[in-house]
Parts: sequence; C-alpha cells; structure tokens
Amino acid sequence: MSSKLNILVTGGAGFLGSYLCQKLLDQRNNNIICIDNFYSSDKDNIIPLMKNKNFTFIEQDVCNFKADFSIDQIYNLACPASPIHYQYDPVKTVQTNVIGCLNMLELAKKNNAKIFQASTSEIYGDPKITPQSENYWGNVNPIGIRSCYDEGKRCAETLFFDYHRQYDINIKVCRIFNTYGPRMHQNDGRVISNFIIQALKNEPITIYGQGLQTRSFCYVEDLIIGIIDFMNTENSITGPINLGSDDEISIKDLAIKIIQLTNSKSKLQFLDPVSDDPTQRKPNLTLAKKIINWSFDVNLDNGINATIDFFKQKLNC
Ligand code: NAD
Ligand code: UDP
Repeated sequence: MSSKLNILVTGGAGFLGSYLCQKLLDQRNNNIICIDNFYSSDKDNIIPLMKNKNFTFIEQDVCNFKADFSIDQIYNLACPASPIHYQYDPVKTVQTNVIGCLNMLELAKKNNAKIFQASTSEIYGDPKITPQSENYWGNVNPIGIRSCYDEGKRCAETLFFDYHRQYDINIKVCRIFNTYGPRMHQNDGRVISNFIIQALKNEPITIYGQGLQTRSFCYVEDLIIGIIDFMNTENSITGPINLGSDDEISIKDLAIKIIQLTNSKSKLQFLDPVSDDPTQRKPNLTLAKKIINWSFDVNLDNGINATIDFFKQKLNC
C-alpha cells in the first residue's frame, strides 16, 4: 500500500480550494494542510472539512508563510479571484501572487515537492485570437486596474518556469477559465453569483456595458477533476494547460438564461462598462484532451440550476 501524502493547499478555504480539499480527502488517503487568511472567504467552506482527522487548517497569509513540516505536494490557489476583491487592495494582490508564490516555490524546493499553480485565463488579457491556445502570449494592459491580477499571475507563471529550469522543481501550471457553482460567496461579486442573487431577489440584473462580452463557464466539480488529474501526470508534463468550458455565451444571454431558470421578474439594467473588461474568452481545450483526456461534463443549464438551489438555501427563498 502506498504511504500517505502530505498535501498543502493554499487558498483552501476559498471557493475552488474547499472543493479541492474535499476531493483530495475523499479520493485518497492523504493528509491535507490548508492555509488561508480568509481574505476573500470565511470559515463556512471548511467547517465540514474540520471534522476530518486528516485535515489541518492553518490561518496564515502566504506572504508571511513559515512551515516546519514536510510536504509532498503543494496546490497554490491563494489569491482573490473576483475583480472586486483583487482590485480592493491591488498592491496586496501583487504581493500574494509574487511573494506568496515565491514562498511556496521555496517550500517545494526545500521538500523536493511537486507544485501546482492556479493560473488563469486572464493571462491572455483581452485576447486578439479565439479560442485561446496555450501558445498565445496574450494582450494584457500592464498598468490598468486588472493588471495587479493579470500581471501578478503572469509573473507567478514566470517564477514557476524559472524554478523548474533553474532548480528542476516539478511544476504543474494550469490556466483556469471562469468557474462557478455552489459555495461561491454571497459577496463574491462575479457574474454568475451576482446574477443569481439578483434574480432570486427580483432585483435588476446589473450588466456592465452592453453585455456583448463573452465568457465560457465551467462547473466547479468538472474543473476539480481536471486539476487533480493534471497534478498526477508524469513529471515531464509542466503545462501551461487550459482548463474550463468552451461553451461560450454573451453576458446578456447569460442574464436572460438566469432570469428564465429562476422564473424571476428581474429586468436587465445596463451600467457603464468596466475598464479593460475582456471582450471575449473561450479556451482551446485540445491540450487538456490530449494530456489528461479531460473535457467538461456538466452543461450550463444544469450547473446554473445547482447553483440556484444553493443560493435559494443560503438566502432562504
Ligand atoms: P476565492 O477568492 O474564493 O479563493 C481564494 C482563497 O485564497 C480565499 O480563501 C482567500 O481567503 C485566500 N487568500 C487570498 N489571499 C491570501 C493570502 N495572501 N494568504 C492566504 N490566503 C489567501 O477564489 P477561487 O475562485 O476559489 O480561486 C482560487 C484560485 O483559482 C485563485 O488563485 C484564482 O486566481 C484561481 N482562478 C480561479 C478562477 C475561477 O473562475 N474561480 C479562474 C481562474 C483562476
Ligand atoms: N459582469 C456583469 N455584471 C456583474 C458582474 C460581472 O456584467 O454583476 C460581467 C463582467 O464585466 C465581465 C463578465 O461579467 O464581462 C465576467 O465577470 P466576472 O467578474 O465573473 O469574471 P471575469 O471578468 O474575471 O471574467
């Protein structure tokens, strides 16, 4: 029988992190150590995990991280992902992406551990080509209000590949496209949770701009399977690899869909566009199919319905 792995998950109390911790606890006989400072989450997501004897929670900022335990694998997810959260304290966002990431890479080096980076489709900025393949270098504004996140994540990817080349660290870099589902925070601020909450309250659906911008939304449980499968690929596979859905939809059509699925009386409200908002986003998933034989399974209507059920319970409606 193989021995237990010690797996560190940074940002493990967040939306994706809590699903990942749960799956790693369910699937394998692992010790999971979760580090989070609740910057964009709260204890709710990890309360069920705390009952598991193989789960340890450490409340800590990855920028000040000190560890005295040995680690086999690291999943680095710590970073606010919603624009309103990462733009709230942009300097802190850069610190988390760069200093936090450096701390994790040093830990991987010290322990000879494998390390996963939760990178993002924002690497591609406002893409000039579609769908976006991993070999596209992107179109990113280096000084705009999204840059703390986009450039922070790009720098993190640079650090990952430099640690790989310079110190032979085993890295796995994954570019995650918009992912949603139950357990998103009520104040998350991203589009699917905003629209569902507004629709359930029969409030106006706030569309930034004309709603012609597109996204491709992936259901959280599909994504987590892909992340773990990618982490378990052979050492020669580093990524970057896109993971997400390629079922593209405009934000206006998404709003209409959510109004229909909730039987809401909400009306569309068109607000000023936000600066540097990418106009289109759709992953090329050829590499994910080839490397891990992964593709998403849950269609948008089913995923949104599950998310609606979650928020109905949360909001008591
Ligand atoms: P989230 O905001 O729910 O989770 C992020 C977690 O990181 C939170 O629990 C937060 O408290 C924690 N955190 C933030 N700064 C920290 C710090 N300095 N020290 C310790 N903990 C810190 O977001 P999410 O959607 O779960 O995203 C998780 C990761 O996946 C992020 O790195 C994000 O950039 C990446 N990602 C997510 C998506 C998506 O659609 N959900 C898309 C692309 C990339
Ligand atoms: N958006 C919107 N109304 C909202 C929240 C978001 O129109 O209440 C738009 C936003 O401008 C963007 C898209 O929905 O074009 C996705 O936004 P989100 O914050 O979910 O993710 P990201 O911009 O990081 O892809």
